[in-house]
Amino acid sequence: SPLVVAIDGTSGSGKSSTSRGVAHRLGLRYLDTGAMFRAMTCWMLEHGVDVHDPVAVAARCHEPEIVSGTDPLGPTITVDGADVAVAIRSDAVNAAVSPVSAVPEVRARLLQLQRDVIAADGGIVVEGRDIGSVVVPDAPVKVYLSADPSARALRRAAEQGSADVEATQASLLARDAIDSGRATAPLVMADGAVHIDTTPYTLEEVVGLVVGLVEE
Ligand code: C5P
Repeated sequence: SPLVVAIDGTSGSGKSSTSRGVAHRLGLRYLDTGAMFRAMTCWMLEHGVDVHDPVAVAARCHEPEIVSGTDPLGPTITVDGADVAVAIRSDAVNAAVSPVSAVPEVRARLLQLQRDVIAADGGIVVEGRDIGSVVVPDAPVKVYLSADPSARALRRAAEQGSADVEATQASLLARDAIDSGRATAPLVMADGAVHIDTTPYTLEEVVGLVVGLVEE
């Protein structure tokens, strides 16, 4: 069966850049499951759903049509046919995505979509919070990425062109606390995952370490 590489970790640990780099080097597809949760959140905000009301979120989470493109050089994400690649990175979505993602019905819906993408032709690198533990527990390669909070905030702020590293760090830590503390599919280190603390490494070095695990 086609290769699946599962990459989990905290916000800003370098998951996306690493996952895309590994997929590109190995000729695999790439799925950013965080973008799917963000797209769901975007739709809820646009439709006036109270994102802090799990019953309201659960009631509407089957409505948006979310489609992910899996080219590691140009991943795409649409909701009801509209490109939301920029909208999903807004402060409003950053603040709302963890409560929306904690709703079990949201996770069940997106799990189905994720498994459909993974089952399509070709190997794939899948990144998220519960990939090695829930989405693809039998993945042959599982990686858990972490980094010091200050390093994560610096990277994320640079990505977003934001000068406010402190606010970025507070936002990352707030999401981590909810993601790790929720009842359904919390962020954990999956059984069999290799832990890489990326703090001292460059992106190229981390990509090399993960490619090495795949080629072992
Ligand atoms: O990876 P990213 O930071 O874009 O993920 C945004 C949010 O989506 C996370 O903070 C988490 O709440 C949620 N998420 C999740 N499970 C995943 C991927 C992301 O709950 N597999």
